[in-house]
Order: sequence, then structure tokens, then C-alpha cells
Amino acid sequence: MALRKTGLLNTAGTPEPVNVQGDRSQIPSPKIPLALVLFGSPGSGKGTQSKLLVRELGIPQISTGDMLREHVRNGNGVGTKVEAKLKAGILVKDEVVNVLVEERLAQPDAANGFILDGYPRTRAQAEMLCRMLAARGIHEVVIHLVVDYNVIIARLTGRRQCPVCGTLYNDISKPPKVPGVCDLDGAKLVVREDDREEVIRQRLEAYEKQTRPLLDYFREKGKSLYEIDASHDAPEQVFRKIEALIRKQ
Ligand code: ADP
Repeated sequence: MALRKTGLLNTAGTPEPVNVQGDRSQIPSPKIPLALVLFGSPGSGKGTQSKLLVRELGIPQISTGDMLREHVRNGNGVGTKVEAKLKAGILVKDEVVNVLVEERLAQPDAANGFILDGYPRTRAQAEMLCRMLAARGIHEVVIHLVVDYNVIIARLTGRRQCPVCGTLYNDISKPPKVPGVCDLDGAKLVVREDDREEVIRQRLEAYEKQTRPLLDYFREKGKSLYEIDASHDAPEQVFRKIEALIRKQ
């Protein structure tokens, strides 16, 4: 695919982007720098798409879920504060998440743009983000990954992970060769703690009540908001749709 190269991703120290086929890619021409907000329900594929986009765009993924889980693993002050909330599928306090994001955006690798995965999730977070981006003169594009409720449930309840190498499987869409066992290292697969059924229900409720209403907020504020049907296409096809949108910016 021939895309036009811009200065966005070719500044010193930034890796040459590689597209999903693994070959050297030419880059779309988004306004520089770009804040790409991947928006959608738990299980809509934000994390998967973020990883593909990182490879293509050479800008970092900022996943508040990953950052919070890392604090929990480290057992530090933030980790202790948020651990119970993560286990229960309840949103962490805005003050805590906003500070994490503010600090992360100040890192040098975020200077040319970034992909936000799982942030903002509340009105207070969205307002904070608008302020941070306005202060930096950063253009924001929100992409809403729209996925049918039944597909979401099947994805989240069927998710299994290898505790040794971290590979993700799904009972329906990506089953291991031997049920319950990792293809790569033979370890017994486990269910992520917040992928248990009662916690999934809680996470989806938090999304419906606290996060989905942000779509109206983005519209009211006149943000660039796009919807992509991500229910049935393979991740690479969804990625191509996102890529086409970015190219138009
Ligand atoms: P998912 O989108 O599948 O729920 P995440 O990894 O994004 O998974 O989030 C896992 C958990 O981390 C959430 O259930 C919540 O407890 C916490 N979390 C992540 N991002 C935020 C955020 N922006 N605001 C508040 N809590 C968050």
C-alpha cells in the first residue's frame, strides 16, 4: 500500500514504521501531532488495534488499563490504591488516572502523538484531556469501535491467557490446539481475573453508564468522531479501516 510519508514519524529517535505485513511502510498524513483516541466497550478490540497502529505509526500506545495493572504488579502506592477496583471491574478515581496520563504525555516519546486506549472513560477525564491537548496544540481524532453486545460477551467470556508467555486465546475465535493448554509452551491457560462473568458484567455496566455518554460530549464539542463497525471483521481489516480514516486527517 503506497501511503505518503510525512515528517511525523521520522524525527530523530523515532523508529521507522512497519506495517502489519512487516514491510517498511509509507505513512499517512495526519495533522501533526495526532492524538488518536480509541473508544469502545471492553472487548471491542482497542488493545489489539492499538498494537497494530503502534507498528504502523511509530507513536506510543497509552493504555490506562496496562499502566494500572503494572502499578498493581509493582505493589506501589498507586497499585495498592487501585487493586480492588480493577478486580471488581469498577473505574478507578479520575484524579488517579488523570495524573498517570498527564505524566505519561510529558514523556519525550509522546511528543509526536500517541494512541489512547481506555482513556478518557468519564466526563471529568474527557475534560482533562481536552485541556491537555489544547495546551499542546494537539489534534484529536476519536475512533469508536462499534461491536455487537453478543460478540462482546463471547469475546470476553471466552478469553484465556497463558500465564507464562502472555499469549491470548479465545475459545471461539482463536482456540488453542489442545483445549486449555498454551500452543507455545504447554502451560495451563488461565482466565484474567477481571474476565470472570460477574466482573465482566460490572465492566460493561461501567462502560454503559460512565463512558458511552462521552460520545455525546465529543459530538457537542465538535471533535472529529468516527464510527467503525468492528463486530465481524478480522483485526487486520478493522485496522485498514482505521488507517484509511487517519489518512484523511
Ligand atoms: P477493558 O477496556 O477491557 O475494561 P482495560 O485494561 O482498559 O480493560 O481496563 C481494566 C480496568 O482498569 C478497568 O475495569 C478499570 O478498573 C481500570 N481502568 C482502566 N482505564 C481506566 C480509566 N481511564 N479510568 C478509570 N479506570 C480505568
